[in-house]
Amino acid sequence: MKHKLKLMLRRLVATGLHATGLRRLFRSRRIGVPILMFHNVGNPPQIEYLPAHMKVSEKRLEKLIDLLHKSGYRTVTAGALAKQLAEGGTPEDAVVLTFDDGYRDNHDVLLPILRRLGAVATVYVQTGPMKGRLNWLHHYFWVLHREGPHVLARRLAEHVDRVHLQADLTALPKDPVEAEYQLKRLLKYELRPDDRDRMLADVFTEMGGDDVKLASEVYLDPDACRALDQAGVEIGAHTVNHLILSSLDEKKQRKEIEGSLRDLESWLGHSVPSFAYPYGRTWDYDEHTIEILRDLGFQNSVTGMPGLNTHRTPPMELRRFAVNEDVNVAELMCEVDGVFTWFERRGFNLSVG
Ligand SMILES: [Zn+2]
Repeated sequence: MKHKLKLMLRRLVATGLHATGLRRLFRSRRIGVPILMFHNVGNPPQIEYLPAHMKVSEKRLEKLIDLLHKSGYRTVTAGALAKQLAEGGTPEDAVVLTFDDGYRDNHDVLLPILRRLGAVATVYVQTGPMKGRLNWLHHYFWVLHREGPHVLARRLAEHVDRVHLQADLTALPKDPVEAEYQLKRLLKYELRPDDRDRMLADVFTEMGGDDVKLASEVYLDPDACRALDQAGVEIGAHTVNHLILSSLDEKKQRKEIEGSLRDLESWLGHSVPSFAYPYGRTWDYDEHTIEILRDLGFQNSVTGMPGLNTHRTPPMELRRFAVNEDVNVAELMCEVDGVFTWFERRGFNLSVG
């Protein structure tokens, strides 16, 4: 209830400050740079199976970039921002647009938008799918899109050999949204990763899914990646297989990170200073991950934790605001202007996440 009240108050404050233009008064006091996190752009039929929270339409994105420009912001890449922050400066007018995973629509749909509006972005690419290997999440989303959470859970229960997991899988809540949440939590944190990957791959194949075909339809290939790079879009690394790095030992973590770095270096012909953690919550990576990143020469890394960034923010744990089609523009612009940070520092917490 308290949380609901906070969300209502947050919406009310944001709507008022945005509609009156008063949010801009906070900008002069702004003490950090926002980095926005997107995934898919547009809704081509190939990505129909991916969930709505990963998508933003062309129209919405164009309007948002236009609004940022009109509000006095200029886009910079994550690498450029990190460099400035490392030199001790916190630029007043910078905003960073980032796009995770390396979807093909980032080339086909996003690039023309950036060109039209004179904006730049950073795209974090996982390189496994570019070589025809999809991670478990894609198998999961693809099957979920066709079967719904309950049927998928029942199918998975047939493949799992542990009794308590069988029970959990067959006792999902009735509500499909809650069921989906529970099922994803079980898959992400309860099942052994090897079991989960194998089971989902089996169900995906049983239903006629084809990794190589789907990967080539949905993900960038090296040529498209190069075209983005040459057009001024920064390409950052995002591992090979999009695993939860904190669940892996050091050796496996290094393989995932270094593998994607070497792939990108060979495709682009230059070094890659920027990285994004898969999933991006603080528990999805650990101190070994950061050590490995530093050792491999990465200069900065972004999380999925919300907040603004200053020269005091750890460069390997930069913060980002997640954005999708359903974003409330007033609230987002208030985050960008630092309104909620300003309130929070005065003991009035309207921040989320
Ligand atoms: Zn990702």
